[in-house]
Amino acid sequence: MSQSITPQPGIMEIALYQGGASKVEGVSDVVKLSSNENPYGAGDAAKEAFRRASHDLHRYPNTDHAELRAAIGARHGLDPNRIICGVGSDEVLQMLAQAYAGPGDEVVFTEHGFAMYKILAHAVGATPVEVKERERVTDVEAILAACTPRTRLVFIANPNNPTGTMIGGNEVARLAAGLPEGALLVLDGAYAEYVEGFDGGAAHVEARDNVFMTRTFSKIYGLGGLRIGWGYGTQEVIDVLNRIRQPFNLSTAQIAAAVAAVNDTAHVERSRSENSRLRAWLAEALAEHGVPSDTSCANFILARFADADEAAACDAFLKARGLIVRQVAGYNLPHCLRITIGDEPSCRRVAHAIGQFKAGVPA
Ligand SMILES: *Cc1c(COP(=O)(O)O)cnc(C)c1O
Repeated sequence: MSQSITPQPGIMEIALYQGGASKVEGVSDVVKLSSNENPYGAGDAAKEAFRRASHDLHRYPNTDHAELRAAIGARHGLDPNRIICGVGSDEVLQMLAQAYAGPGDEVVFTEHGFAMYKILAHAVGATPVEVKERERVTDVEAILAACTPRTRLVFIANPNNPTGTMIGGNEVARLAAGLPEGALLVLDGAYAEYVEGFDGGAAHVEARDNVFMTRTFSKIYGLGGLRIGWGYGTQEVIDVLNRIRQPFNLSTAQIAAAVAAVNDTAHVERSRSENSRLRAWLAEALAEHGVPSDTSCANFILARFADADEAAACDAFLKARGLIVRQVAGYNLPHCLRITIGDEPSCRRVAHAIGQFKAGVPA
């Protein structure tokens, strides 16, 4: 290969994103609890809309997503003109990085923040700046201290993945108010729907011109396989992102399923209440087995073990029983395992298995 054909600066710094595993060699009855997917799947309305979309596969989709933006706006009380839709919220995050950061600029996120933030910083040649958290909770003071005149983007997920913790509205407001001129605060609300009554940060977007919110259909809506997300910001930022958005980024099927999903509030309600109930149950069951976790606001818990070796051994023990959870050493949490809240039988299976592991039952 010619030495002169080289990628842009930063690209070779990227460590490939690791998705959650879904198979165990030699085990058939597998439960996947590694990707924070909705155990009940997509709602019936979304599935039906997806099926109906098969009749129009030869037609180009709308480029403006007007119907989906209207449905999201009506559901969340937001201005549809200030919504942008993407191929997952990952694409919206990518558009933000592409539009606002480049070589010489700094992109700030936290030590246990979502993996995409660092990847995106490198992808656009910007400098990633990783900030300490306080006991697995976003530390606003530390973020503000890390900001410089070169800071362009500050990414925080609230609730955060993989910690499950979140910070309150006053903290978010203090962060937004303290950012340097020219820096945009991105509130990643991938798990917002799991927090009863939470707006994902929309009020902060309304209150200031330096806050942006992203949301997804991949988690509570159970549509991770279809790849739909959206963002909400000032008209200025939305207009910028629309210049770099591919005109046909969302397919007809994605748009149709998402519209149906937004309006299927019963599916969201049921998913949220079952998640809350089983999350509390699982956290307590694990605590009784000597495995603590922080109070989670999302659809997973972060189980803490004595050290990295014990976490890895427990992961292997679970895997042998067909239970796939997530190692999070890549998030600077080598002594932890992230466990998605599955349906009730899955939660019982994982609690039972961890109990056996802690009791010294041989693998
Ligand atoms: C799952 C997740 C996303 C969602 O990504 P999509 O591209 O919308 O599937 C975004 N942010 C965080 C923190 C997540 O955990």
